[in-house]
Amino acid sequence: LGALLLGAGPHGLAQKKAAALASVEQRVAALLQQMTLEEKVGQLVQYSGRELTGPASNRKTDLLNSIREGRVGSMLNVKGVADTRAIQAEALKSRLHIPLLFGLDVIHGYQTVFPVPLGEAASWDLAAIRLSAHVAAREAAASGIHWTFAPMVDVGRDPRWGRVMEGAGEDTYLGSQIARARVLGFQGEQLGSTDAIMACAKHFAAYGAAIAGRDYNAVDMSEQQLWETYLPPFKAAADAGVATFMNSFNTLNGVPATASAHLQRDILKGQWNYPGFVVSDWGSIREMVPWGYAPSVVEAAQAAMTAGNDMDMENDAYGPHLAQLVQSGQVPAAQVDDAVRRILRKKFELGLFDDPYKFSDLKREKQVLRDPSHRQAAREVARKSMVLLKNENHALPLGPQQRTIALIGPLAKAKRDLAGSWTVMADTTQIVSPWDGLTERAGKKARVLYARGAEVTGTSRAGFEQAVATARQADVVVLCLGETWDMTGEAKSRADISLPGAQQELFAALKATGKPVVVVLMAGRPLIFNTIAEQADAILYAWFPGSEGGHALADVLYGDYNPAGKLPSTFPRSVGQLPLSYQQYNTGRPVTNPKNITYRSAYIDELNTPRYAFGHGLSYTSFRYADLQLSQPTMRATDKVQVQFRLTNTGPVAGEEVMQLYLRDLVSSVVRPVKELKDFRKVLLGPGQSQIISFTIDQDKLAFYNAQLQRVAEPGEFQLMIGSSSDDIRLESKLVLAP
Ligand code: BGC
Repeated sequence: LGALLLGAGPHGLAQKKAAALASVEQRVAALLQQMTLEEKVGQLVQYSGRELTGPASNRKTDLLNSIREGRVGSMLNVKGVADTRAIQAEALKSRLHIPLLFGLDVIHGYQTVFPVPLGEAASWDLAAIRLSAHVAAREAAASGIHWTFAPMVDVGRDPRWGRVMEGAGEDTYLGSQIARARVLGFQGEQLGSTDAIMACAKHFAAYGAAIAGRDYNAVDMSEQQLWETYLPPFKAAADAGVATFMNSFNTLNGVPATASAHLQRDILKGQWNYPGFVVSDWGSIREMVPWGYAPSVVEAAQAAMTAGNDMDMENDAYGPHLAQLVQSGQVPAAQVDDAVRRILRKKFELGLFDDPYKFSDLKREKQVLRDPSHRQAAREVARKSMVLLKNENHALPLGPQQRTIALIGPLAKAKRDLAGSWTVMADTTQIVSPWDGLTERAGKKARVLYARGAEVTGTSRAGFEQAVATARQADVVVLCLGETWDMTGEAKSRADISLPGAQQELFAALKATGKPVVVVLMAGRPLIFNTIAEQADAILYAWFPGSEGGHALADVLYGDYNPAGKLPSTFPRSVGQLPLSYQQYNTGRPVTNPKNITYRSAYIDELNTPRYAFGHGLSYTSFRYADLQLSQPTMRATDKVQVQFRLTNTGPVAGEEVMQLYLRDLVSSVVRPVKELKDFRKVLLGPGQSQIISFTIDQDKLAFYNAQLQRVAEPGEFQLMIGSSSDDIRLESKLVLAP
């Protein structure tokens, strides 16, 4: 058996071959037969290993003993070759020598930090997003990690929720495409390959819809909305072969997601026939007790297991209680076997039984973490993620005419902040700050002056005077404002998402000098900055751009790279509008408006329109959309309609454009939003160049979930809209689905 599990010893060549031939399924079955109930439960248990590398403690001793006894199947937060190897060696001392899985939150890069996921989503560039995940996987795998708890595919429409930073924004279609790209990037061609780690679609499900944007809060939504808006990115991840799912902290319609048989057994493992395993979120089994759903952690463990939660992350629920629950008949043994099989399968697919250290090699770790192509990729993705929100009077790009630049603001010299959260492995000293990037690019051609001006938080105006004096000496002010890195992310909900502190006042003071002011905003979420939106000459939304942020920023400010990012989330005017999405409904009280977004159901003290719409983003060039043609104006259910138009770069420089296809079902048995994104394309055109762009519309693009939760395309008229943004529609047509 040892040879079957671990490959052969020195004398077992024949056995080794035989083992290689045995299918994963056979090997799993053979192993399962040897396992005691306690060993099975062990495979379902995951603990955090922070203590394992620290000083001696009771927990450390207990954990090490549990690992040696085969009572732990996976660890999180152990990283680096030296540590993962040492702890794996302990696991291999267990009776059946089953290797551990090492999991970690590799969210937007490992050592090389990429933009926060919401920023990457603004690139609408699936190849770039996939590359980012691939580089992260490559570094993490070389560092002993087998599994990342990413991508987060939760749709988020309320930027008060700090975790919008970790997702792909508000849109289901864009989010589904990005979910797929990230899974493929992390997992590569095949799980067993050296650059691949397992991905994890999280948080299943509807975590992003927490009431009032408050993290961990309850979620209450219709099944129709769940299926229409929140589940498709998870389905896309499953279809892309994502190895694992994580459930979530929230309740959904009264049931903790971790205890939801509806989500995990019926939908995921039933209807979707998902073969991977489900891990709980950190402590989410235990949390059933304070929710008031389970009287104690014992019942919580029972609820989680019977609902289809396979692995216990840091709950201490399965370890101490599951075997007893099986023995007393409260949990069917077959459910435990099924969970164990799902986990072992992945360990075999990863190749861990053939070489439990396969990803752990000190030499490769060093080499891979130093690979300069990773920094290059991070710079590329960072500049693609930046969104030019506003650009007046040709404030940007900067050029030789700007001989003196005043670089001002609390984030002008920031390094750590550019990494955002979930970057435990980042070497923050290696981050290129805006100051680093801009002074390097300006070289001898321009003088760059600096003043801090204000802090991100706090209301002191003590630095204003010096900032104003600095601005007076310059041809242009580049003002770097935003949030600090730790203001977005988990447990970082904000009731007021205004640009914090005295930063807008600092802007106003600088604007009063009469100098052009270019504002660079760095944040993990959409912020509210109305004064700046109205008065700045240019605004570049740079998110938290990662290790190469300063370089990427200089590339964009100088026009070495022409920005092409488009917002993946609506930017509100005020918090009272939240949650806000471009997917509005027309209500029974519409007013006629060419942009079709203002209704009489408006606030008496605020517009209904966003500050910046979903899909918005400017370029240093301009594009013309023309000559829309449909291959047929009426389609039957099985037809595919070709939609074609000509895109022309009418401006002075090369640039990329993201063209967005929206649809509206004009009359339907369930009222549909006024616009839904159904496809997009990103192309690069030189000045004067044009290209024919085509989209295909099939029945699936017209379909929605009806009141019976059937996905149907109902005959009738559809409005087809193609634009540069959800509020900048350039071409329109009707399309009829025949009965
Ligand atoms: C988060 C997860 C994360 C886990 C492990 C939890 O608090 O919700 O997204 O993967 O911690 O760090």
